[in-house]
Amino acid sequence: MEINNSLLLLLLHLCFALILTNTASSTKEDPSVIISRFQQYLQINTSQPTPDYNKAIQFLISQAKSLSLDHQTIEFVKNKPLLLLKWQGSDPTLPSILLYSHTDVVPSEQDKWTYHPFSAHLDSAGKIYARGSQDMKCVSMQYLEAIRKLKATGFQPVRSVYLSFAPDEEIGGHDGAEKFADSDVFKSLNVGIILDEGLASPSEEYSAFYAERSPWWLVIKAKGAPGHGAKLYDNSAMENLLKSIEIVRRFRASQFDMVKTGLKAEGEVISVNMAFLKAGTPSPTGFVMNLQPSEAEAGFDVRVPPTANAEALERRIAEEWAPVSRNMTFEFKQKASIHDKFGKPILTATDSSNPWWSLLEEAVKNANGKLGKPSIFPASIDARYFRERGLPAIGFSPMANTPILLHDHNEFLNQAEYLKGINIYESIIKAYASYVQHTKDESSRDELPSNGASMNPVRTLGPAIAANNFKAIWVYLTAPILGALCGAGTFSAVKPPEEDNATTHEKHSTAGSFRR
Ligand SMILES: [Zn+2]
Repeated sequence: MEINNSLLLLLLHLCFALILTNTASSTKEDPSVIISRFQQYLQINTSQPTPDYNKAIQFLISQAKSLSLDHQTIEFVKNKPLLLLKWQGSDPTLPSILLYSHTDVVPSEQDKWTYHPFSAHLDSAGKIYARGSQDMKCVSMQYLEAIRKLKATGFQPVRSVYLSFAPDEEIGGHDGAEKFADSDVFKSLNVGIILDEGLASPSEEYSAFYAERSPWWLVIKAKGAPGHGAKLYDNSAMENLLKSIEIVRRFRASQFDMVKTGLKAEGEVISVNMAFLKAGTPSPTGFVMNLQPSEAEAGFDVRVPPTANAEALERRIAEEWAPVSRNMTFEFKQKASIHDKFGKPILTATDSSNPWWSLLEEAVKNANGKLGKPSIFPASIDARYFRERGLPAIGFSPMANTPILLHDHNEFLNQAEYLKGINIYESIIKAYASYVQHTKDESSRDELPSNGASMNPVRTLGPAIAANNFKAIWVYLTAPILGALCGAGTFSAVKPPEEDNATTHEKHSTAGSFRR
């Protein structure tokens, strides 16, 4: 009997141990399974100009189903599906979280790659090679994996969390994000914050972006009298254009110098790069050589940060780059405004006025990540369509210790960085989806016009030290004291004397000297 009892006890122990191992493995999945899901998505060829959107959406829907997320496919333009997933929050009155990503990737020159761009090859160093491994299939899958982990822990969101997978970002987003941001569907989501893509960071600090530069595609054109190639004369089209090119080149150098000397980050200056030069009279063997042409033009890709003075730049273009006095004209092939629909610069605050920023900072830190100083994205991403509507959007792709290889040959992401990024998103989504205080403060602040100035010197000093910005700090520190002194003086000056109290009277006679 005793032997039987011990045997039973041993069996019970074994069963218990088995149950424990099973539970542990269900909450902590084998990393190779997580990586293989990422590889499966990377292997779908969604390269422009003929992306296989259907296959990508089918795959993502299968993921959504495995996570019990609601899904909806919307085609604003035929055969350009946008997938919308929803994780219902317990308080649907609160603004929601939108985890945004795009499904397309840029084309790749296969012969320049070590491994096929859609093989998602995992090398011995843990690098996963694929077009889209950085831009931005990693982020799409990290969102989903983070939700998988949160669900496994039993986490329940208070705010609803939406995920959108949009087409065509790489060709401007007009049939994707732009139409989505404009739609009634989007309005009905009541989005409070959008996360979109960022860039890999070669350092150990993650990059984050609060704005982007607006593209101004400028073409300047010069006209002049045509003439013999041997004749020297003023105001030929070529001469006029070359003068302008020299002026533009000097402006470019001045902006670039600010980046080189560290005065400004790349996204904070106006960049100008020549995109084309067009002049000359064609001949069967090339160009006519003994003729000065009557027209010449040059195209520039100009990128303008939201912090720039757009009017001053336009004046510069009209007066210096393409002046009428040199027979020049100009036109914009594209000119995106640096202001939102309310006339404010298109940027998302990254100070204490934006709780979403503080939450992100905190969440990254809590997941043992380091966040670098937020900056302006040097090019364009879909986030602009949401920022234009006055909504906060943060560009963030958690890839540290990774060279920036978006749109480059041999784009890759190390599996360890990918897995770490999932933990970062887990922390962010958890913080965002549980955040409840924000709405009332935020909406009342939106309604009241504010210059952002504080009245309390202590409230000024704290953020100034934190932000290392002491601009006009003397005003905030001295004004309240001077104001108090003036107020006291004025009060004393206008207050009638109180005859019945000797001490007060004495004081008043001193104060009375103000009047004399
Ligand atoms: Zn992208």
